[in-house]
Amino acid sequence: ALKNDSVSAKKQDFSEYAGIWAVMEINHERGQLQKVSLELLSEAKRLADILGEQVSAVLLCRDIPEDFEQNVANVGCDIVYIVKNDLLERYDTELYTSAVCELAKQYKPAGILFPATENGRDLAPRVSCRLQVGLTADCTALDIDEQRNLVQIRPTYGGNIMASIISPDHRPQLASVRPNVLLVNPLKTPADTQFVCVDMELDAESSKAKFVKAVEKEGVFRDVGEAEIVISGGYGIGSAENFRILQKLAVKMDAAVGATRKAVDEGWAPFDIQVGQTGKTVAPELYIACGISGALQHTIGIKNAKHIISINTDPAAPIFTMSDVAIMGDAVQVLSRLCDKVEKY
Ligand code: FAD
Repeated sequence: ALKNDSVSAKKQDFSEYAGIWAVMEINHERGQLQKVSLELLSEAKRLADILGEQVSAVLLCRDIPEDFEQNVANVGCDIVYIVKNDLLERYDTELYTSAVCELAKQYKPAGILFPATENGRDLAPRVSCRLQVGLTADCTALDIDEQRNLVQIRPTYGGNIMASIISPDHRPQLASVRPNVLLVNPLKTPADTQFVCVDMELDAESSKAKFVKAVEKEGVFRDVGEAEIVISGGYGIGSAENFRILQKLAVKMDAAVGATRKAVDEGWAPFDIQVGQTGKTVAPELYIACGISGALQHTIGIKNAKHIISINTDPAAPIFTMSDVAIMGDAVQVLSRLCDKVEKY
């Protein structure tokens, strides 16, 4: 609602707002750009092309990530606004919010895309609140309508319908977008990207959080969204004890473990590895679904997986219809045998 009701009656002049921005997310510990950043930038480029405007990246950091210049040029980025500061060594709610808001006030983009990651989900609503504009969270698709509004598409009513949301009464239009739903689209000819370093005073005292220690999740419970191989377990796995066999195979295959909501609800796996509509969207090379029926709310999260292998006792399980390899049998037995056969590589 914000202030829109009072101003919507008169036609707004947004002529000074132009271009689509994508806010970059960095794995600060590894000094690398997260894949979602390039997904957002590719999509921002597509949208900016429809508008006939420029696409920009926003990079807040202490150190420029590895291969950054090449990566953003490859997806057609016109401008990168960089705020480089020791205080931006890692994500900080207050400092990142201030920096994005300052940039937006100064350069006036028509739209800003944020990654719907833990950090992005923290940052985007704060930027929205401070700029007094709306935000559509967790979008799965975007477009531009005939009035040049950003169309923000996301599932609603438990995933039963897709809502198309526009924000005609304000600029910039803000959307957070789920990782792994958009494709990175490298161009044949890289862009001649312009890098603009923006000097900005950041107030260390304004930060309400104090950094103590960073502990990166490792092993099988690392981020399912970034893994090349994901082995997920569902209710058919039967118990927390049986779930360990999945973890054992994941270690051998250097895979991450995922789970369905039912397995999470049973307490067999933590929520942050839940895959699906209310969990994470994944796009691995290989997804192994074990004892998973294939409910829409789960499969919506794996539609960009390159290959799917499923193990299920029920020949009519819906997951089989979307699998490259379907194994009919007891998941725990099949996993145990696979574990014996697969050598750690
Ligand atoms: P089930 O549907 O119970 O399937 C278990 C499967 O295991 C069956 O196919 C069965 O044949 C098979 N099986 C049984 N024994 C064995 C065995 N020994 N070996 C092999 N196979 C066996 N779900 C998610 O996963 N992620 C979400 O983000 C999510 N969000 C939701 C949001 C909303 C608003 C709603 C309403 C639901 C959501 N759900 C989500 C729940 C979803 O609808 C399903 O209930 C859930 O995905 C089913 O999980 P499952 O496949 O583990 O269990």
